[in-house]
Amino acid sequence: MNTDLELFARNWAKVYVLPMEDGFKGAYDIERDAIYLSDRLTDVQHKCVLAHELSHARHGDCGCRNGHDAAELRADIEAARMLIDQADYMNAERCCDNPSWIASELGVTPDLILAYRCWLHDTIPNFYQNNLVD
Ligand SMILES: [Zn+2]
Repeated sequence: MNTDLELFARNWAKVYVLPMEDGFKGAYDIERDAIYLSDRLTDVQHKCVLAHELSHARHGDCGCRNGHDAAELRADIEAARMLIDQADYMNAERCCDNPSWIASELGVTPDLILAYRCWLHDTIPNFYQNNLVD
């Protein structure tokens, strides 16, 4: 695979696809400046995990921390924003509110739909609050 995302990622880290233990989809190694992706991912998982790890590389994070801290949510939100077109998301959500269905329609994983919704939830109210007209 040699997508625009992969070319962009190579500006931030070396990218390796290799066998990984069960349960591991990817990782960012700050010491080696390397992103590792499991060779068992589907194409959709591959691009979503690459975008997530790319976010860690861009911020110099010390790898994933079991999905329980702000860096993990930020990585998911940034991955979602890299991969989801807002107009496509709006059109999909008008058809069906189910995150799994929307994910399938947009070619991303459901967790990125949930992260995108977190971003929308935090951004849209702020947008209106900052642009209130008396
Ligand atoms: Zn992570």
